Amino acid sequence: MSHSRYVLIPREPPRLLSIVLPIYNEQETIPLLVKRLNTCLDALGLPVEVIFVNDGSSDASVEQLLELAHHDSRFKLLSLARNFGHQAAATAGLDYACGDAVVLMDADLQDPPELIHDMVREYQKGYDVVYAHRTGRQGESRFKRVTAWTFYRLMKTLVHRELPADVGDFRLISRTCLDGLRSMRETHRFLRGMVAWVGFPQVAVPFVRPPRAAGATKYPVRKMLLFAWNAAVSFSPLPLRFSFALGFVLTAMGMCYGGYALIRTALGLYTVPGWTSSIVLTCLVGGSIMISLGILGEYVARIFEEVKGRPLYLVGMTANIPEIRRADAVPYAVGGDAVDGGSSRPAAVNSEAAAHLRSEFMRGKP
Ligand code: UDP
Ligand code: MG
Repeated sequence: MSHSRYVLIPREPPRLLSIVLPIYNEQETIPLLVKRLNTCLDALGLPVEVIFVNDGSSDASVEQLLELAHHDSRFKLLSLARNFGHQAAATAGLDYACGDAVVLMDADLQDPPELIHDMVREYQKGYDVVYAHRTGRQGESRFKRVTAWTFYRLMKTLVHRELPADVGDFRLISRTCLDGLRSMRETHRFLRGMVAWVGFPQVAVPFVRPPRAAGATKYPVRKMLLFAWNAAVSFSPLPLRFSFALGFVLTAMGMCYGGYALIRTALGLYTVPGWTSSIVLTCLVGGSIMISLGILGEYVARIFEEVKGRPLYLVGMTANIPEIRRADAVPYAVGGDAVDGGSSRPAAVNSEAAAHLRSEFMRGKP
């Protein structure tokens, strides 16, 4: 697939920049994060809102965030009803953001806030998506590095060719692109694939990924594998075809072997009294059927999940977030299509609401 060509139209700096940070048990990192963020945002000199999405933390994160919101109205808190996972938390933050540009980043300082400056510069050049490209990783285990490397290569070649390699969720997204992204309400979410799907001019800014500032990773191996699996099957029917190919190969092998045995019998050559071969074939064919059924089942399960049309997250408590924004974001989260009967309408409604909120923000009452 060749890359589309775009004409870049230079823009004004964002009238409001939103920064979305999913938080899951980050009590050790929040103080460090806020310190670095404050320095960077002051240097940036733009109107900013920082949306912390508490993803059901069980430590002191919420208290810390509430305290922050209390002292500085730029800091907002969106507290989900339980742990919905990183991708859902990020979605919640993106839904509530009302800036002209939104930056999504991790809270553990592995995504250096200093990079926001470069992202905004690229945004002003006319890019709609500016993603941070990891040219190196510091302080991560060999296991994490190897699995990440394999993951990005596999995803790129097998699943989504436009997906840039070594790029996480750390990125700036323009309002236009965000409205597109917000209209995609699937349950199994792989945000970076979805952003690539939306399109628009995209560009990378390079950085070396530093180690976590404090605390432990919230992505254990189990979650990582689940994430990779989601990425693979949410974006492509390839696994489904893989099972078909496997079944095809095994059937072909069976037929060849059967033909071979028939010919030997016809020629009066000695044939092994068929026990071993039939058992082997039965196993192979049975195995391929089971694999195919398993993969089919996976897709059926996904259809089931999507048909349920459940909200992607539920918001428990908020701070510094006006009521209108809740009213705007929540019905939308339940599924734009089902509620409004058309996929274009919610996006428009939301753009309008965002514009309204922006003007309200400009008047100094966020
Ligand atoms: N996170 C979250 N919900 C989860 C797991 C993680 O909101 O269920 C947040 C976490 O607080 C952090 C970001 O997602 O801000 C990335 O997580 P982490 O740094 O642990 O992942 P890693 O960098 O190790 O892949
Ligand atoms: Mg991290």
